[in-house]
Amino acid sequence: MMPPARKPLPFLQVLWRLLRESRGIARVAAPRKTVHYLTALWREKCLAFDGKVVINMFFPPFPGRAFLPIVADCLDFPGSVHLAVTNRCHQLCRYCNLGASPPRDLSTAQMLDILKQVQDLTAPIIGFTGGEALMREDIETLLAGVDDRSSTILYTSGTGLTAAKALSLKRAGLFAISISLDHADRAVNDAHRFPGSHDAALRGIQNALAAGLFTVASVVVSGETLESFPSYLAFANQLGVHGIRVLDIIPSGACIDRPPLDARSRARLIEWCEAANRDPSLPQITCMARLEGPDQFGCGAGGVYHMYIDGEGYLRPCDFIPIRFGNLAEEPLAVVYRRMRRYFPRTRDFCFMKRHSRRLAALLGGRPCLPWTEAVGFLEAVRNDPPPRMFTRIHGNHFHSSTRGSSGN
Ligand code: SF4
Repeated sequence: MMPPARKPLPFLQVLWRLLRESRGIARVAAPRKTVHYLTALWREKCLAFDGKVVINMFFPPFPGRAFLPIVADCLDFPGSVHLAVTNRCHQLCRYCNLGASPPRDLSTAQMLDILKQVQDLTAPIIGFTGGEALMREDIETLLAGVDDRSSTILYTSGTGLTAAKALSLKRAGLFAISISLDHADRAVNDAHRFPGSHDAALRGIQNALAAGLFTVASVVVSGETLESFPSYLAFANQLGVHGIRVLDIIPSGACIDRPPLDARSRARLIEWCEAANRDPSLPQITCMARLEGPDQFGCGAGGVYHMYIDGEGYLRPCDFIPIRFGNLAEEPLAVVYRRMRRYFPRTRDFCFMKRHSRRLAALLGGRPCLPWTEAVGFLEAVRNDPPPRMFTRIHGNHFHSSTRGSSGN
């Protein structure tokens, strides 16, 4: 497979363009904060794609309506919202965060209503996930229900991503697709995921590229697979993907008892990712360990930067945090969001689940999820985890929340 014409752009050129475009936005309330956020991106590899600039999978492409709130409000809102469109899946992968979930889907009308509420709240990125999102028969209808206030990404194993399906997703408005591929070696990959998963991912990648989707390979790196990461990069590069989304293992769901990478391993992974982003011949790397770490944006779970709506319609702080704050089939999103934000007032310097998975596992007692009412004591106790350094640089030590979620129901 031929690598696509990836077009890396010099960061200063991107920054200049970002600042020039943000000048025209009357709502830029805190220019110093905006500059902090934008300059924090200097280690990213920005790509030109389809007339836009793609910084990474943490941000929507710009210019575009979805990017405007980033410049104006610096992510004082859920920057990305993941929506599990179905719990159905053909397999159970080793890293799955789903747990035992009923395979019943919300209706198309319910989903479209949730998407509208999510967009009204402000969500520059909406991620369609599952289960296997492609098992949802009306996935194109749901994608088409998202207007240009949000950029869309779909997470899939690649199963069912035929050439026709990839084109139909593109026509329905999908911008990016993230295809799970955990290892260059077929046997190792399939042992981590499911038999045939390697082939399905490779076929899916090929079809997504041909359909003109921004195509990303998504990898979970654990202690077992860390050393093979450089060969993974070379392999994914040969496949021609535009980007790689690198997630280090998070203790949750099927692997809630597994440890996260230790600090040294995480630092190595980050170094590899940064080196790859300096090499123009390699794909763009979205390294979650760095982006969500103490030196950058930190953990934005709880609707600070990110939140998750599970397959039954419950709002949760993140795909990996098994606490439910209310069901959107029963209550408006704005109400449930405010309730959740009471316990997630700002960013944290470290992944909530990597830090608190043991305490949460004890509370869960084997159940896949907890209602928030059973977790109040725990949530109060961990409410004031330290913020990332960038947050302190911007806000000083006296945090005053400007968010719409700092009080309420
Ligand atoms: S809990 Fe972990 S995975 Fe979830 S938003 Fe925070 S850092 Fe990311």
